[in-house]
Amino acid sequence: MLDLKQYEVWFITGSQHLYGPETLEQVAKHSQIIAAGFDQSSAIPVRVVFKPVLKTPDEIYNLVLEANAAKNCIGLVAWMHTFSPAKMWIAGLRSLQKPLAHLHTQFNSEIPWSQIDMDFMNLNQAAHGDREFGFIVSRMRLERKVIVGHWQDSEVHDRIAAWTRAAAAWHDAQGARFARFGDNMREVAVTEGDKVNAQMRLGYSVSGYGVGDLVRFVNEVSDADINSTLQEYAEHYDLAAGLQAGGEQHQSLREAARIELGLRYFLEHGNFKGFTTTFEDLHGLVQLPGLGPQRLMDRGYGFAGEGDWKTAALVRAMKVMSAGLTGGTSFMEDYTYHFGSNGMKVLGAHMLEICPSIAATKPRLEVHPLDIGGKTDPVRLVFDAKTGPAVNASIVEMGNRLRLINSVVDAVETDEPLPNLPVARALWLPQPDLKTAAAAWIYAGGAHHTGFSFDLTSEHLADFAEIAGMEYLQIDRTTNVSQFKQELRWNDLYYHLAKGL
Ligand code: MN
Repeated sequence: MLDLKQYEVWFITGSQHLYGPETLEQVAKHSQIIAAGFDQSSAIPVRVVFKPVLKTPDEIYNLVLEANAAKNCIGLVAWMHTFSPAKMWIAGLRSLQKPLAHLHTQFNSEIPWSQIDMDFMNLNQAAHGDREFGFIVSRMRLERKVIVGHWQDSEVHDRIAAWTRAAAAWHDAQGARFARFGDNMREVAVTEGDKVNAQMRLGYSVSGYGVGDLVRFVNEVSDADINSTLQEYAEHYDLAAGLQAGGEQHQSLREAARIELGLRYFLEHGNFKGFTTTFEDLHGLVQLPGLGPQRLMDRGYGFAGEGDWKTAALVRAMKVMSAGLTGGTSFMEDYTYHFGSNGMKVLGAHMLEICPSIAATKPRLEVHPLDIGGKTDPVRLVFDAKTGPAVNASIVEMGNRLRLINSVVDAVETDEPLPNLPVARALWLPQPDLKTAAAAWIYAGGAHHTGFSFDLTSEHLADFAEIAGMEYLQIDRTTNVSQFKQELRWNDLYYHLAKGL
């Protein structure tokens, strides 16, 4: 569903006419080779397209207008092979509406000690050309990612790759539509927010629907479609005995499939990229949708429970950023703690809706009662999550800004099996430790709902937050609560004052 090869970043090179045509030809040749090197990189998930060397203010301005209008262009990677006087860049940068990365590299990796002369020096002067460019971008207070290193260095490819993933998620959010069945879970604060502000700042819109609008689609699902979906279930999951054909709960599975298909048709019909549900508004549905959101997340849709559209949009962005990777990304909730002597851990889960992309082994389809919602027993996929490094992120609304908080964690196996827990779950140790991480998270106002990913790193989330103009807070090995509290105070001041910058 998510294919990042449909997107392009444009590789642009700044220069000027001062050096004469021969040098400019060399510059263009080098840039073409570098762009092709990135385009063929196995790390970089999007196309990298060479654009003719920019030598005048008009060329720069026109290139930016072209990039703004190009539907598949998700950002610009800029490099100043030679000096490119930066007043030439002001008009273009003022107009730029796409993310910007500044690659600080040079064509040769080493100084040719015995041959170097002034011609070589004048051709390969990114060391100062890129400083001139950096000045104007900083002077204009524009966000960008600065990446330093030789263009064949795999670390440089990784830095560019992370940024292109973030840029793709940003691009995906522009004009994206999210459906909200029912409203916010009553009286919950952190899942509320300003949808107008989110649309202005982040580009996506959130539309409310009565659950009856969904029920209409659910009721139209054909038996044939249900049957083929049941075959998919049998292929991908272990089925509890009662859910199998002829079993006494088989009808519950058919109903779950009907809801999943109704949801999918609704989302496809309205061209939505994600959705929320709430157990407080299920009129006309026989079960709380559990399996449906699980499987739709697995297809790349954003989802969050209880009307939490901010987290649904975050999960979608994380799905786009992780496209083509295999670790998995899911909606998550910090559920309960293990304050044990063998390491303090968080057990994460939700009532039902955790994405099977993070499952360690083949998920098992089960049906169990749900104590809230007042509906029949919902079907869900039950599994333990994978183990390894992961990120757990939340977006909250601070009134004058959106804040993205990232908790870096290490997912681990459960100490013992959990035979009586009828939901998918993940267990993790937050960095640097639970006491520090939870205190910092709470001081930052982080939500209980998160996007959880084995595919993404802090770099993806930081790049995404910068592109989106969001405040970014990271809780990791280096976090110290008193310094973190200072950061929160300074950021309050910064975001208050930054409007004047
Ligand atoms: Mn919840």
